[in-house]
Amino acid sequence: MEFDIAVIPGDGIGPEITGEAVKSLEAVGRKFGHGFSFQYVDMGGCAIDKYGVPLPEETLNICRESDSVLLGAVGGPKWDTLPGSLRPEAGLLGIRAGLGLYANLRPAVLYRALKGACPLKPELTDDGFDILFVRELTGGMYFGARGRKKTDGGEAAFDTEQYSVFEIERIGRVAFNLARQRGKKLCSVDKANVLESSRLWRETIHRLKEEYPDVACTDMLVDNAAMQLVRNPGQFDVIVTSNMFGDILSDEASMITGSIGMLPSASLGEGSFGLYEPIHGSAPDIAGQNRANPIATILSAAMLLRVSLKLEAEADALERAVQKVLDSGLRTADIMSEGCTVLGTAEMGAAVRAALDEG
Ligand code: NAD
Repeated sequence: MEFDIAVIPGDGIGPEITGEAVKSLEAVGRKFGHGFSFQYVDMGGCAIDKYGVPLPEETLNICRESDSVLLGAVGGPKWDTLPGSLRPEAGLLGIRAGLGLYANLRPAVLYRALKGACPLKPELTDDGFDILFVRELTGGMYFGARGRKKTDGGEAAFDTEQYSVFEIERIGRVAFNLARQRGKKLCSVDKANVLESSRLWRETIHRLKEEYPDVACTDMLVDNAAMQLVRNPGQFDVIVTSNMFGDILSDEASMITGSIGMLPSASLGEGSFGLYEPIHGSAPDIAGQNRANPIATILSAAMLLRVSLKLEAEADALERAVQKVLDSGLRTADIMSEGCTVLGTAEMGAAVRAALDEG
């Protein structure tokens, strides 16, 4: 089969990690007889430098016309002093909204081979964990009204958290359906003891619950969820939450998997189209040094194969290749532990492709 993939390398380590993910897709294509055509487009700091805006219209159009999008990461200190709407991160929010991607899926899995890189006490992760975060992506405080005003106490700033029943039901259904395909447990995270938007969130999830009697659905306050993730991560199956809470909790979960360099994500709207990216940022501190871990981006490519292109066997093969490389003791610096061999970005990508070819 033939597929058109838009690739947004972005800034910092973005070009290095997307480079390895593209090569892994090409290797999958060779092995399984598919053709991928990749169209490279600009977003983020590099787009600001070239076009003066973080998300050129042409980038959005090419993404819309593709079967799906692979993204590295955007941002960096060079653009940190620009006004909010012109910063690289505005490109991220713009592309999510522009492509109607309201559901962000972030799996956080503790690989057996990486147990040593998990900062929790070994007895807390004896049974491992496999959590799927379902984060609402186009609402809440990141998209609500914001501004500054004069008050008696001097200048003040505000950001607004707002959710409609439509938005909560829409993300809730994605989460309930995914829980149905997994361990049939859904935890809805909110701050209903304080926030009105969370009280509406909770009421709406409770109404939806009636439609999914086979899924055990519980509520948890976000502060407790932050604690439970490091106390007993194995208790969670699927977690559904708002844009901001999901952003913070999934980064916490990434740390207990051993490295932020391991976690992929998918952003979905209606239909099979999606945008796939690692959950980490552009890591300017290690950019251009062949030190970045490409696995989160390679696993994002595997999610792209499975979710958007419906190539289940191909996705499994790529994920198995990653597992095999880790089991054989090969590591990038961020997940290095005693007795293992450290590789650079390009060498790790090559090792995954070799494992794919062998497997
Ligand atoms: P970051 O995720 O880029 O880096 C945090 C730490 O993790 C750094 O020490 C970095 O070296 C390390 N790290 C990240 N990815 C790694 C990888 N693949 N391999 C090895 N180590 C890795 O977060 P930050 O430093 O807070 O942000 C840097 C820039 O990225 C900022 O401009 C921020 O706005 C942007 N950002 C972009 C995205 C995105 O594009 N989706 C997400 C988060 C942050």
